[in-house]
Amino acid sequence: MDFEFTAEQVAIRDTIRELVQDGVAPRAAEIDEKSEYPKDIERLFADNGILGIPFPEEYGGISGSSVTICMGIEEIAKACASSSLILAVQALGSYPILVAGSEEQKKRLCPPLASGEKVAAYALSEPGSGSDAGAMETRAKRYGNEYVLNGTKQFITQGSVAGTLVVFAQTGGDDHRGISAFVLERETSPWTVSKIEHKLGIRGSPTAQIVFEDVKVPAANRLGEEGAGFKIALAVLDRSRPGIGAQALGIAEGRSTMRSTTPRRGSSSGSRSRAFRVSSSCLPTWRRRSKPHATWSSGRRPRSTPRHPTSPRLPRWPSCSPLTWR
Ligand SMILES: Cc1cc2nc3c(=O)[nH]c(=O)nc-3n(C[C@H](O)[C@H](O)[C@H](O)COP(=O)(O)OP(=O)(O)OC[C@H]3O[C@@H](n4cnc5c(N)ncnc54)[C@H](O)[C@@H]3O)c2cc1C
Repeated sequence: MDFEFTAEQVAIRDTIRELVQDGVAPRAAEIDEKSEYPKDIERLFADNGILGIPFPEEYGGISGSSVTICMGIEEIAKACASSSLILAVQALGSYPILVAGSEEQKKRLCPPLASGEKVAAYALSEPGSGSDAGAMETRAKRYGNEYVLNGTKQFITQGSVAGTLVVFAQTGGDDHRGISAFVLERETSPWTVSKIEHKLGIRGSPTAQIVFEDVKVPAANRLGEEGAGFKIALAVLDRSRPGIGAQALGIAEGRSTMRSTTPRRGSSSGSRSRAFRVSSSCLPTWRRRSKPHATWSSGRRPRSTPRHPTSPRLPRWPSCSPLTWR
């Protein structure tokens, strides 16, 4: 098995790395402090093709590779965990369509997501069913060419900002065999946000409770057969979980290479924090072998974002393949 990254993956990673250093890192502290979804970062990612990474080219995207998605999430999480979820949940909310959608559904539903015109979310959990997703109570009843949804979903990342929401609901019995999956588009099947959770971390990523009261969904937006929803939900979780591992890795890497702007007691201004000194001595030395590839994205470079006074000052991560580590 070949574990080397392709030249294209390295190019995508290097482009994201630069974009993050210039456009995301300076905003990170402010996003967390204000606990606000960073719409400007979503636009930055959309304009530079990052939201197209989860999709193959035939559906308007640029990759579709899980490894590339993980590389992107890791790079973004080095500077801002909230922003890394914009890509992670774009993948999570789109996987059901890519995994179980018909060709017609993929061609219709994926391009607005791949271009970043819309962001996606994935609604499985409920107030009374988390780990035990089969016990969900949200129901979808069919009337002719449409379904009518009623119920409540809990802890839905990006549920308040998404334009496309994949919802799992009971269409048959009361256990996992009766669950079906539906794609809701906000303009035609609007849902209500009843609560945004107050969190201690990753505060720029909204975690929403959402309510469906007689929400109509076209039957053409059901993914797979009736009763196939639970299998689809699990297949999607299998694909999306590595992304959360990549996020954790990025957060740890970012922290271990971050220079604190706040001088520590007894240290001179601008000196490296203890955590940085300890961890950097354990890390391999990065060596720059090549210039960053500028060919991948649209070629547009973001303008530098003004640095927030409390934003951490991050070192310029070098651009290189892990194979060039020394
Ligand atoms: C920040 C955040 C974002 C989220 N985003 C989304 C999202 O985008 N979409 C979505 O659908 N959901 C989302 N979730 C929900 C998440 O998937 C659930 O929280 C998770 O499935 C656990 O469910 P629960 O919170 O109800 O805990 P519970 O299922 O009640 O579990 C509580 C504890 O009991 C343990 N436990 C449960 N069952 C068993 C058992 N049979 N045996 C032994 N131990 C058990 C669990 O391991 C856990 O420690 C999010 C949650 C959070 C906190």
